[in-house]
Amino acid sequence: MHAGFSGRTRQTPVSRFSDGELLRLITSEDDKDIRNLFAEARQAREKYYGTGVYFRGLIEFTNYCKNDCYYCGIRRSNAKLDRYRLSPDEILACCRAGDSLGYRTFVLQGGEDPWFSDDRMVEIIAAIRREFPEHAVTLSIGERSRESYEAFFQAGANRYLLRHESASEAHYAKLHPPSMSLAERKRCLWHLKEVGFQVGAGFMVGSPFQTPEHLLEDLRFIEEFQPHMIGIGPFIPQRDTPFGGEKSGSLALTLKMVALARLILPKALIPATTALGTIASDGREQGLKAGANVVMPNLTPTAARKLYALYDNKICTGDAADTCRYCLAGRIASAGFRPEMSRGDAAG
Ligand code: SAH
Repeated sequence: MHAGFSGRTRQTPVSRFSDGELLRLITSEDDKDIRNLFAEARQAREKYYGTGVYFRGLIEFTNYCKNDCYYCGIRRSNAKLDRYRLSPDEILACCRAGDSLGYRTFVLQGGEDPWFSDDRMVEIIAAIRREFPEHAVTLSIGERSRESYEAFFQAGANRYLLRHESASEAHYAKLHPPSMSLAERKRCLWHLKEVGFQVGAGFMVGSPFQTPEHLLEDLRFIEEFQPHMIGIGPFIPQRDTPFGGEKSGSLALTLKMVALARLILPKALIPATTALGTIASDGREQGLKAGANVVMPNLTPTAARKLYALYDNKICTGDAADTCRYCLAGRIASAGFRPEMSRGDAAG
């Protein structure tokens, strides 16, 4: 239990894995070990979700950001990036386009953009909720006060993605400026849960300075926090950031982390991320085979996509929404899974 939350009741689950076993798997290069790990993860996911893969329509609605994360291409200090924000009407138009393509979850993601004040966000969420009463609305707009989260939830948002990024204090401090802290990130995550959101945590794999011990801490945090969703993707450099010259995280290690996350929280919703599809052409399919069960195709208008430049060479930035929808459905089917367009809440 970490400082500041000792008053809350929650169970600390006892992992089937010891630290030593997790570290052994994280660092293993033994093919048989890895094949077994993926097979077990696939089985765990099949037990709760079968072969279905849930679709979430991603709307990247602003690339303005007041933060300055060292890894992220839309950080405040990136003066080379043209900035955009979609208007509330444009966001609703994306939802309508998504709905007609069959999406039942909309994910509104953006930088931490003060233009989208609590009041504006509440209006947007309420408008989506009015028009699409049955759909899930997911937010991914960073750190806000507990009161803001409450207002978003009251307005009709259901889910919130906020990766913890790194569960090691020391490593977190190497990825973020001193104005940001892991303690604050975690406080936000707990608030989101208390407010009633289905919450997503997660981390990058292979980010600069990351060690196997840090990844172990990430898994232990996942186990403690018990998020409904876990976003895991490789770090990929973006040329106009302080980490622009660093190496990408590896496919093999990212897949192992996906599989371990699945085994630690078998009922979690785990995306095969766009970043995974960026470092290998079949990265997302491999993610599904390692235990992932969600994809997040892009609904952002094509003109804006290139500008949501979290990292270099991001895939699908030239495509239209229907292209992504059908391309992914095809990839999923040929990998032996079944595209599933229903709302897809976490298994109970
Ligand atoms: N502002 C929101 C959304 C951030 S973007 C928030 O703070 O939650 C969504 C995710 O993209 C981040 O959580 C981060 O893990 C990932 N990301 C950012 N830069 C990246 C990079 N260079 N490589 C891989 N993933 C990156």
